[in-house]
Amino acid sequence: MRVLITGIAGFLGSHLADALLEQSHSVVGVDNLSTGSLENLRHLEGESRFEFRELDICQPFDPGKVDYVFNFASPASPVDYNRLGVETLEVGSAGTKHSLEVAKRYGAKFLHASTSECYGDPKEHPQTESYWGNVNPIGPRSVYDEAKRFSEALVMAYHRYHGVDTRLVRIFNTYGPRLQKNDGRVISNFMVQALHGEDLTVYGEGDQTRSFCYVSDEIAGILALAWSDEHLPVNIGNPHEWTILDCAKAVLKVTGSKSRIVHRPLPEDDPMQRKPDISKAMSLLGWEPKVDLETGLRLSLDYFRSVEPA
Ligand code: UDP
Repeated sequence: MRVLITGIAGFLGSHLADALLEQSHSVVGVDNLSTGSLENLRHLEGESRFEFRELDICQPFDPGKVDYVFNFASPASPVDYNRLGVETLEVGSAGTKHSLEVAKRYGAKFLHASTSECYGDPKEHPQTESYWGNVNPIGPRSVYDEAKRFSEALVMAYHRYHGVDTRLVRIFNTYGPRLQKNDGRVISNFMVQALHGEDLTVYGEGDQTRSFCYVSDEIAGILALAWSDEHLPVNIGNPHEWTILDCAKAVLKVTGSKSRIVHRPLPEDDPMQRKPDISKAMSLLGWEPKVDLETGLRLSLDYFRSVEPA
C-alpha cells in the first residue's frame, strides 16, 4: 500500500511511519513542522519507500494516489496548543477536512488520531467509548478538545454522507523516545528534570491521575484498529492509572536521581482523572498493552539523556 501520514514529523507520526515501513508499505508524509521535527525522520533518509513533503494541510493538498490516510497532524501538548490555539482549531477542522478529501478522491481508507481529551474532565471513570464527556467549550483546553471533537464529527460525516471507510482512535497519554523535550508534558518534564538534577515540578498536590501507554503499545493498537472494520471510536491506551505524584516517584526510581519533588500551581481545567476502559479494543482487536510504566521509562532513558533541558 501507499500510505499518507499527516503530522509525520511528530512523536506518533514518526513512530507510525517506522511501523508501516516495517510492514513493507510505502509512506508519504506531510508536516508543516510547527511542532514536529525533521530529527524524528532523519533515520529514514535514503529509504526509497519513504517520501517527505513540507506542507500545511490547512490548505487543500494532493499527495498523489494513496490507499490509506493516517491523520496525525495537530499540536498535542497543552503548552503547544495553548501557544498555537487558532492553528490547533484550524488543523482540527480545515486540516481534517482536506485529509478526508484526499481519502475520498482516491477511495482510500482513513484513520483519525483522536484523543481522550474528548472526555474532558470526565465524570465517568474509567472512560468507555460511549461516554460523551465533560468538556469546557471556552476554557484554555477548548482549542484542542473542541478541534478534536469537531474532527470526530467530520470523520463520521464523511463516513455517513460520502461513504469514506473511516476509523477513530482515542489516544490516551503516550510516552517514549521522540517526545519533544520541551513540550511541557509530564513524562518529558520529569525525565529531563530528573536526569539533569533539577526539581520535579508536580502541579497541584499531584493526586490527579493519568494512565500512560508506551509508544510501541500505542502504535500496535492503532495499527490493529487500522486493519479492522470498526468505524466507531476505540480507546487505545494503558489502563494502569497513576497519580502524578507516584509518576514522579517512578521517574526518580528509574533514573536513580536525587532530585526533589516540588509543587507548582495546577493549570486551569486540568482533568482530575483519566483511565481508558479498553474492553472494546481487547475484544474487537485482541490488543492490550504489554509495557508497564517503569519498563517504558527505562526504554526511554537513553533518549531523554541525549536531550538538553529547556
Ligand atoms: N504535570 C505536572 N508537572 C509537569 C507537567 C504536567 O504535574 O511538569 C501534570 C499536569 O498538570 C497533568 C498531568 O501532569 O495533570 C499530565 O499533563 P500533560 O501535560 O502530560 O498532559 P495532559 O494529560 O494534561 O494533556
